[in-house]
Amino acid sequence: MNMQKTLVLIKPDGVARGHVGDIISRFERAGLKLVAIKMILPKHEDVDRHYALTDEWMQGVYNKAKSKYAEEGREFPFPNWQSYGQDIKNGLVRFLKSGPIVAMVLEGEQAIPLVRKLVGATEPASALPGTIRGDFSLDTYSLANEQHRSIRNLIHASGTPEEAKTEIGIWFTEEDLQSYEHVLDNALYNPKAFFAGE
Ligand code: UDP
Ligand code: MG
Repeated sequence: MNMQKTLVLIKPDGVARGHVGDIISRFERAGLKLVAIKMILPKHEDVDRHYALTDEWMQGVYNKAKSKYAEEGREFPFPNWQSYGQDIKNGLVRFLKSGPIVAMVLEGEQAIPLVRKLVGATEPASALPGTIRGDFSLDTYSLANEQHRSIRNLIHASGTPEEAKTEIGIWFTEEDLQSYEHVLDNALYNPKAFFAGE
């Protein structure tokens, strides 16, 4: 078993568009257990810590956006990853602070990659149908950059176990995390379930 906890934030666009229920039900439907949840108007410091401006992260956002422009046969109009990363971070901080968000912790076998799969690609227009971003939005890198804003993609989800640990610690305390028996625990995790009397 590889039980993991992961952090999900429903960003201000998801809350303001009335998709909180739709989004949570996608996670519940897949068998994930909700272990903490709250609505917050984020403080600057929390968003600032959440999107830590590491070189790796800045290079990641730059490369993903640049390759999307290349796919479309267009010139990427930003000179380097440092300035692009900084702009993206500033835009994200402004976006996340613009209205209430819903923060939650989900638990399950390999919950971190599972949630990323359900959420879909960063750019909603490229995210596959069936994913949350693919089904509920159409935003693009080009439109967001043209309007000097963050991509409105409804959700943040932790990418790695290290990220999940740090991010859960930003939004929740240890006592906020509930432990309880879920009806799915038996069906999903009990090795003896579905062996009638053997
Ligand atoms: N983002 C953006 N433009 C970019 C890259 C990222 O607006 O060129 C925003 C977008 O909202 C994204 C967030 O920055 O969700 C974090 O970027 P990351 O690459 O970590 O994407 P995610 O993990 O959210 O898919
Ligand atoms: Mg990320």
